[in-house]
Amino acid sequence: MKIVMKFGGTSVADGRRIRQVARLAARFSTGNELVVVCSAMDDVTDELIALTEEARNGAEAAVSARLRELRQRHTQALKDAVKSPAVVAKVRPKLAETLGQLEKLALGSTILRELTPRSRDGILSCGERLSNPIVWGALLEQGLDAVYMTGGECGIMTDDHFGDAAPLTEVTGYQVKETLGPLLADGKTPVVTGYIGATQGGETTTFGRGGSDLTATLIASSIDADEVWIWSDVDGLMTADPKTVPDARVLAEVSYAEAGEMAVFGAKALHPRTLEPVAEKGIPVRFKNTFRPDQPGTVVKSNPRGYGGSIVKSVALVKSVAIITLTGASMVGRPGSAARIFDAVARSGTNILMISQSVSESNISMVVGRDGMQRAVNALELSMLGPGGLKQVNYEDDVSAIAVVGGGMRGARGIAARVFGAVASAGINVRMIAQGSSEQNISFVVPESDGKDAVRAIHSAFRLDRLNSGGPGERQQRRQD
Ligand code: ASP
Ligand code: MG
Repeated sequence: MKIVMKFGGTSVADGRRIRQVARLAARFSTGNELVVVCSAMDDVTDELIALTEEARNGAEAAVSARLRELRQRHTQALKDAVKSPAVVAKVRPKLAETLGQLEKLALGSTILRELTPRSRDGILSCGERLSNPIVWGALLEQGLDAVYMTGGECGIMTDDHFGDAAPLTEVTGYQVKETLGPLLADGKTPVVTGYIGATQGGETTTFGRGGSDLTATLIASSIDADEVWIWSDVDGLMTADPKTVPDARVLAEVSYAEAGEMAVFGAKALHPRTLEPVAEKGIPVRFKNTFRPDQPGTVVKSNPRGYGGSIVKSVALVKSVAIITLTGASMVGRPGSAARIFDAVARSGTNILMISQSVSESNISMVVGRDGMQRAVNALELSMLGPGGLKQVNYEDDVSAIAVVGGGMRGARGIAARVFGAVASAGINVRMIAQGSSEQNISFVVPESDGKDAVRAIHSAFRLDRLNSGGPGERQQRRQD
């Protein structure tokens, strides 16, 4: 089989774990063609983001301290991951090159107290450009004929939206195949940095947080891989967060659409575009736990099995959200009101998670991330209130959203009644409801203090603890990649 394996930050968090990753890859390389894609070491991207802020503020001492710490951490990881001096000698220049560039970029911005989106991506890309060479060394030491390259070198080409670049899929498909095809045919194992691409002009770009998953699926689609394996520190996609629902189960199989809905609502923090490149070609994506590699995990595929008629597959709690409600008769029967409202919110830089409007049209509610609420409210007040405009902008920030997901809900009757019946029986008041017309997701908002109880009520009403699935699941580390 041709498999693209992506390892998340916790899987490559230190030298010892990198050795473990290399052993895993070596084990699955027998009889298979492998491409390995890795994230930055755990927390390193967060550190780099902090570094960009310190640089922008001209905080020289903080920048130097952080650079020293990053250099130290990766040097130590190399030492722990690779024992052979010959291999260390191959990897060290790669680390030195990236560390050198990182230092120049960071110190340059510190002096200028200025950071363009382009240099910011230059800095953020360094996490992956430091972890992947170490993995490469560890693979060499395992006896694999591994080859290290960045996403750009591999052929991943993007637009120039620095920080949130979109892949140019046609060119990327062609170039990646050109680069990797001959290497794989030659029995080599490419190690490609996740998260990173390059513009047509050769500038480094990043896909946004969690972007390494997208790197893996882009490569898989380009080389017509048989499967993508995403290794992290959880057993797979689950019926609910096991911290909230102790008897949550691992889902053995879900569809691309279901996984997409679950990812949006954070069941496993997947980059939102991850599944696009593989869904089209029907390439299965398997989620596995590096710390329990023999667990079957979850497979995302075209025709998942139906779990003996189970309709709902997962229920997720989305914390840190706020609800904004606009009221005013001036919206009634007036085309363009919604457009003006959403335009104001968009211009404030706030992302909207849910929308609902009643047929009377006299109010519109939306759910936004809590950190963007005040900005959105200010923008709405500025642009919409006043004579002939809206009457009121209300907001509440002590709410949570709940997402109930399952492909079997489509066309099935009585699902909403069961969902809201369960919530009502738990004595919980529902503040807002939305269902996507895909009918694979029902979302609603409850007071924050009732969020977990609502999740448990639905999990138990649909007997998700009995789902004939991959087992109870276990989380080894403190958080997901
Ligand atoms: N290192 C990047 C991040 O933490 C990309 C990734 O891990 O997928 O967001
Ligand atoms: Mg990460």
